[in-house]
Amino acid sequence: MNINVTKSFLPPLEDYVEYLTGIWDRVHLTNAGPLVVELEKQLREYLGVKHLFFVNNGTIALQIAIKALELKGEVLTTPFSYVATTSSLVWEGCKPVFVDIDPETLCIDPALLEAAITPRTVAIMATHVYGNPCDVEAIEEIAKRHNLRVIYDAAHAFGVTYKENSVLNYGDISTLSFHATKLFHTVEGGAIVTDNDELAHKISYMRNFGHNGPEAFWGVGVNGKSSEFHAAMGLCVLPRVDDLIRRRREISERYDRLLADTPLVRPRIHDHTRYNYSYYPTLLPSEEVLLQVRDALNAEDITPRRYFYPSLNTLDYTDKQPAPVSESASVRALCLPLYYDLSDEDVDRVCAVIRGVFAPTTSTTARV
Ligand SMILES: *Cc1c(COP(=O)(O)O)cnc(C)c1O
Repeated sequence: MNINVTKSFLPPLEDYVEYLTGIWDRVHLTNAGPLVVELEKQLREYLGVKHLFFVNNGTIALQIAIKALELKGEVLTTPFSYVATTSSLVWEGCKPVFVDIDPETLCIDPALLEAAITPRTVAIMATHVYGNPCDVEAIEEIAKRHNLRVIYDAAHAFGVTYKENSVLNYGDISTLSFHATKLFHTVEGGAIVTDNDELAHKISYMRNFGHNGPEAFWGVGVNGKSSEFHAAMGLCVLPRVDDLIRRRREISERYDRLLADTPLVRPRIHDHTRYNYSYYPTLLPSEEVLLQVRDALNAEDITPRRYFYPSLNTLDYTDKQPAPVSESASVRALCLPLYYDLSDEDVDRVCAVIRGVFAPTTSTTARV
């Protein structure tokens, strides 16, 4: 059986059907239905955040965040992220200015931020890469000094805390993705988080066409709403998310043990972090070795993922800007399979294949 890099978690079907029964009774399918309202309340409590808006995906969350902050001009951003981080800026008419990453944490390097600031710089948009928090304190200090707004793409950072506080409470706005491949999911979905009341008001109407009641408008908006069906999935998954994180941690620690004597390097998780084990990223010594490892795994019907690849500063719709650390990381980064019901035996198989690449003369049987 194929072992893929990820597998969506599905709750017991009966749980979902129970929510469907309620939807059929009420015939309220979307537009701030009771399940959406309930999910938002539970997410605010679980995550420890003030305002949270459930939207239909993580990319619209980024786009609404950019609009709510009225960003126009240059935005300092990371080249090492999923494409949506850059494409949402370009889509909203901003110019991404790439600031290279820290080679150990793989998050944007705050030491390089100031040199990239110009009179046209309006904001910083950084990603908590693989759920590893950015250096939020250094970023906050620089943003204050230069009067820049801060958006965190926290698509990977569900449930992550930094110094016992949700990492979502840093910056002006944080965005989440609840896509089916993410740790917590609603099939498709996302959220916008802020502790600023004025921004919260703007976001609340912007995600609903700008409506202020049925016949009036606060301003321009878009359709960022989600539905009762998506909220129902979230309400089924959320009570299980601690257990999902617990199992992912076990698997990650098993990988750590079994791969300890291979050349695979792990990103350094920022101090004072409670991590969520949303991915199992590794860095190989070179792209050539990465391709060897990938091919060896593929031959055993195991599908890791090159994530993130390519480095976003190389996209042809951005101007060419150098980011050598990100370019090097993106050709060497490989995420290994990690999901709730991945068995220990399968983890051992993955590790045996990888160890086989580095010790080709020894047996590829797992040595546990
Ligand atoms: C998944 C992801 C997104 C996009 O989220 P969608 O819900 O798929 O639109 C944005 N940024 C990062 C870093 C992601 O991993």
